[in-house]
Amino acid sequence: MSKEISKEEVDRLYKKLNEEAESGGYHLNPDTDLTKKLVRGLLVNQKRYGYQACPCRLASGEKEKDMDIICPCDYRDPDLGEYGTCYCALYVDQEILKGKKEVKSIPERRFRKKKQSSAEKVKKPGDKISKSGYPVWRCRVCGYLCAREKPPALCPICKARRERFERFALR
Ligand code: SF4
Repeated sequence: MSKEISKEEVDRLYKKLNEEAESGGYHLNPDTDLTKKLVRGLLVNQKRYGYQACPCRLASGEKEKDMDIICPCDYRDPDLGEYGTCYCALYVDQEILKGKKEVKSIPERRFRKKKQSSAEKVKKPGDKISKSGYPVWRCRVCGYLCAREKPPALCPICKARRERFERFALR
């Protein structure tokens, strides 16, 4: 199947993902060989299923069932925050990007989603909680709001760092 994917297609998607990642405060793995293999896997899955299912996981082939593992998956940001890399190591944090830390294999978060989510959704009195149950974070620089376990490493709007985020609390 992968023979049907040309080098040009891989390079094109790699360039697009890299530009999108950098403009949103994310980083692709600097190991270009590995990263391009993963990008090829995304293209294989695009052709096989009609959507870019995670190249490291077994997709069901039913989009509704696989929604959480369409790249970038629901687990990328929590894994980046906790381990510095997504499950496939397609996305990495600044420390890995700069060679200060090595990529290591990480546990699969997908099947502990429900249990972990309830444990991780830390609610404090006065917190604004989104319908999803996640706390809401506010960028103090530009006002960008997001509902997730932790604020992003970089604000996708103004590129302020994580420490510039505050919990968005009810008055
Ligand atoms: S683990 Fe990485 S490569 Fe796989 S879907 Fe998530 S973000 Fe994409």
